[in-house]
Amino acid sequence: MFWEQDLECMERGELKQLQLERLQSTLNRVSRNVPLYRNRFDELALDPDDFLSLDDVRRLPFTTKEDIREHYPYGLFAVPLREVVRLQSSSGTTGKPTVVGYTKNDLGKWTDMCARILCAGGLCRDDVLQIAYAYGLFTGGFGLHYGAERLGVSVIPSSSGNARRQIMIMQDYRTTALTCTPSYGLHLADTMMDMGVNVNTLTLKFGLFGAEPWSEAMREELQERLNIVATDNYGISEVLGPGIAGECLERNGLHMNEDHFFLEIVDPDSGDPVPEGDIGELVLTSLTKEAFPVIRFRTGDLTRLVPGDCPCGRTHQRIHRVLGRTDDMFTLRGINVFPSQVEQVLLAVEGAEPHYQILLERDNHLDKATVHVEVSDQFNWDQLGKHQELLELVQKRLSSELGVSFAVKLVENKSLERGEGKAKRVIDKRSF
Ligand SMILES: [Zn+2]
Repeated sequence: MFWEQDLECMERGELKQLQLERLQSTLNRVSRNVPLYRNRFDELALDPDDFLSLDDVRRLPFTTKEDIREHYPYGLFAVPLREVVRLQSSSGTTGKPTVVGYTKNDLGKWTDMCARILCAGGLCRDDVLQIAYAYGLFTGGFGLHYGAERLGVSVIPSSSGNARRQIMIMQDYRTTALTCTPSYGLHLADTMMDMGVNVNTLTLKFGLFGAEPWSEAMREELQERLNIVATDNYGISEVLGPGIAGECLERNGLHMNEDHFFLEIVDPDSGDPVPEGDIGELVLTSLTKEAFPVIRFRTGDLTRLVPGDCPCGRTHQRIHRVLGRTDDMFTLRGINVFPSQVEQVLLAVEGAEPHYQILLERDNHLDKATVHVEVSDQFNWDQLGKHQELLELVQKRLSSELGVSFAVKLVENKSLERGEGKAKRVIDKRSF
């Protein structure tokens, strides 16, 4: 099923040509209307008309989150505020949030991109979609909301939070598809168990998850516990929110909406392109955005290209699920660790739950990492031997899989704080 088949299955040569034309017009617009980009063109003595191939984009410097913050709130807008019909912002966990504006055309395109993702994830107008992302300044709720309505899906804007109420809605409204963060999806599965709700009595079929990195093992767990087909989708609030890329039912990589975005994968340290198929940081250039175009925006998300053609027929390049963030990746005694790797290990150990928190401390200049791991419901705390056995198993697996040792602390089921949105996986108390 396709939403815009002619565009999603476009012949590659034709697509490249379309990207180039759109890139040229974007560069022209930003060099006229956004002082930051105009100055960059001036400093490099470049003219937007000099860009004759897509690779020429590498002549321009990257745009970073800091650039956006420095021009808070409207400094990077390419249209007058009068033309802007929507403002959204990032969650702003550190410092000032970033503000992103949308024109009427931007919203129309965003809506179509989200409709594409939902369609690729299996939805059609017969579906009832429960949107358990926060509505508000965060882009998750509203982005998918309009896409789903355009697709003709029946939308339940339940927003985030109140898991028991979410499940009651799921039962009563006969929800067929759920969209939220994967960690919240798992929280809903736990809540169902607490409430004694048998998943087979529900009408759920599809789950569309995004907004935080998750693992293949977590997909399996979500699919099994919620009795759904789970797909991954990608968005980042500084660029668009959901709708940038999404998986089809093959579940082997996320198709990037390449008629709207030009993507690069670069080495996070050097900024050079990585060999095709290698892991690097995703860099995005918008090709159709009017109010808030971005040129070579460093997303901080690590991924790689998925080679080959997809059996679904879409020609748009696939990216691998996000492997982690350049900024929530942490370095422990010289080893780079992604929280998702820890999660992968926990999911493979019986008795351990993928609910965890990593505490990083520094003791006498030595890094110490402790993983707090929830144990499953059935775990018997009175059996000392069992406790020790599980603890050692988790410790051993972590150290063999990740190449660095962790202290492990088993904690009771549901004792770690559950976020309503993105889970907080790492607490870094080290001072550098
Ligand atoms: Zn596909």
